[in-house]
Amino acid sequence: MSNSENTPGKDFIRAIVAEDLASQKHGGRVVTRFPPEPNGYLHIGHAKSICLNFGVASENTGGICYLRFDDTNPAAEESEFVESIKNDVRWLGFDWGESEHYTSSYFAQLYEYALQLIRAGKSYVCDLSSEEHTAHRGSLSEPGRNSPFRDRSVEENLELVERMRKGEFENGSRVLRAKIDMASPVIAMRDPILYRIHKAPHHRTGSEWCVYPMYDFAHCLSDSIEGITHSLCTLEFTDHRPLYDWVLDELATECHPQQIEFARLNLSYTVMSKRVLRQLVEGEHVTGWDDPRMPTLSGMRRRGYPAEAIRSFCDGIGIAKRDNIIQLERLEFSVREDLNRTAPRVMGVLRPLRVVIENYPEGESEMLPSVNNPEDASAGTRDVPFSRVLYIERGDFLEDPPKKFFRLAPGREVRLRYAYFVTCTDVVKDANGEVVELRCSYDPATRGGDAPDGRKVKGTLHWVSAEHAVTAEVRLYDRLFRVEDPLDVDPGEDFRSNLNPDSLEVLTDCRIEPSVVGAEPGTRYQFERNGYFCVDPDSGDTLVFDRTATLRDSWGKVKKRG
Ligand code: ATP
Ligand code: MG
Repeated sequence: MSNSENTPGKDFIRAIVAEDLASQKHGGRVVTRFPPEPNGYLHIGHAKSICLNFGVASENTGGICYLRFDDTNPAAEESEFVESIKNDVRWLGFDWGESEHYTSSYFAQLYEYALQLIRAGKSYVCDLSSEEHTAHRGSLSEPGRNSPFRDRSVEENLELVERMRKGEFENGSRVLRAKIDMASPVIAMRDPILYRIHKAPHHRTGSEWCVYPMYDFAHCLSDSIEGITHSLCTLEFTDHRPLYDWVLDELATECHPQQIEFARLNLSYTVMSKRVLRQLVEGEHVTGWDDPRMPTLSGMRRRGYPAEAIRSFCDGIGIAKRDNIIQLERLEFSVREDLNRTAPRVMGVLRPLRVVIENYPEGESEMLPSVNNPEDASAGTRDVPFSRVLYIERGDFLEDPPKKFFRLAPGREVRLRYAYFVTCTDVVKDANGEVVELRCSYDPATRGGDAPDGRKVKGTLHWVSAEHAVTAEVRLYDRLFRVEDPLDVDPGEDFRSNLNPDSLEVLTDCRIEPSVVGAEPGTRYQFERNGYFCVDPDSGDTLVFDRTATLRDSWGKVKKRG
C-alpha cells in the first residue's frame, strides 16, 4: 500500500521529476542531495529523506545524489556526528560516491555572494539588538517596521561587513540582513538575517571565519553551486521558498534548483528531532545515541532492525503533501516481516524453569535435528543437544491452568519442539511454595516431535538442555514513551515526564542453545516463540542480546481479552 498522491504507483515528487525530464527542464539531469546538519545522529525521519533523495537519483539514468553536511553552526556541530551520519547512510544501503560535500567548503563563495547583494543595494548591516530585532519584525497579523539601519550606504555596509568578518565586533552586536519587505505577509521575507557573528571554532574551518551564513542563505546557494535540480525538503520550509527563490533570483545564479516540500515522517510514541534526542542522551535517560530504544538509525541497527526493513517501511509509507502520523506498529511490521524470512531460529529460555526427565538415562545426551528457518528451506537444519535435565520457560507451566492454556500442567502431555512428548508427573516447590522444578517422563517413541500412534498434543514448547546451554543476558525493550505524542505536554511540563519507566527490563539468567556461541555483535536470531533478538556489542564472555521485536503472542492476547 502506498500513500502516493496524484499518480498511481508514483508519488507527486517522482511525477514532477519525470515531467521535468520529459520537458528537459534541467537539461535532462536529476541531481538531488541529502543535507543533514551534523549536530546529532540520524533518526528514522532522516531515513525517509535519504530513501527519497537517493531513490529519485538512482531511478533515473545518470541521476546523482550528494551527501551534503549543512555545517553552518559551529556551536552545535562536531566531527563525531559527521562520521556517524556517513556510517548510517552507508548502512541504510546508499552510496554518495565521491560526492561528499560541506556547506563550509563554500564559505568564501557564500561571502562573495553576500558582498554582491550589498553592492546591489539588497543587503545591509543592522545593529539592532536581538530583542529590538524581534520587536521590529511584527507578527502574522501586523506588518514589521523598518530597521533604522536599513538605508545605510553601500560603502558603509561593505566596510562594516568586512569589519564583521575580521572579528572587530562582538557576537550579536551586528548582523547582515537582506533588504526585502518588512510588510511582507511572509515573515521569512521581512529582511531576514543572512549572516551573524559567531566567534567559535568550526569543526572544519577552525578559526578562519567568525561570521556564519544563516540556513536560508546558505542552503539555496549550496544547492545552486552543486547544480541540484530538485531540492526536496520537508513542509516547514514551504514559507521559506519565496526567500529561497529571492536569493537565487537577485544573484541571477546560473542554476536555480526547484524546492519541493513533502510531509515529514511522524511516528506515534516517538520523538524525532535531534535537539530533543540530544536531551535524552545528555540527561542520561538512555545510554547514548545508539541506545536500542532510540529512534536513531544507530539505535535501530543495534537493536537488530535490518536496513532492508527500514527501506521497505519508507517505501511503503510513500511521500505525501500533508502531515500525518504513522503508527509505530507499521515499522515493527516491516521489521518482523523481514526477520521472519531472514533470521535463523534458535531456542532460548528467558526465564528458566528446571525440568528433569526421570526416565531419560543419566549422563547421556543426543543431538536432535532442528529446522533453521521454516520460511527458508535453503537455511537447512542444525543439531540441538537433548539430555535428562532441561529448562523450559517459567510461563509455559501453570499448576492450575485456566481453560485455553495449552502448555504444561500437572498430568498434561506437551511436545518439546523437535524432541519428544513429555508429561508432567510431579512438581517440586521450595519453602515459600514456589515451583522450582518439574518432574516429567518422556515417550521415546515420539522422537522428532510426532507420535507414531497419531495422538495429538495441544502445546509445543521450546527448551534447552541444562548442561549444554549458555547463560546469556537479554535486554527486553518496550516503547520509550508512554503516550502517542510525547511532545504534547502542558505548558511548563517537560516531555520527559512522558518517558516509559518500564522501557527496559534486563534478564541475566537466560539459557540459550549452544549454537549461538561465538556469535558476533549484530547477529540476528528468532528465539522460537519469544521474538527476534540481536547480539549486542556489550557482549563479552557472556553474550548479551537485545530484543528487536516480539512475535505476536497468542496467549498474551487471550489473557488481555480475559
Ligand atoms: P532535526 O530536527 O531532527 O534536527 P532537521 O530537519 O533539522 O531535523 P537536518 O539534519 O537539517 O535535520 O535534516 C536533513 C534532512 O532530513 C532535511 O532535508 C530534512 O528535511 C530531512 N528530515 C529531517 N527530519 C525528517 C523527518 N521527520 N521526515 C522526513 N525528512 C526529515
Ligand atoms: Mg535541525
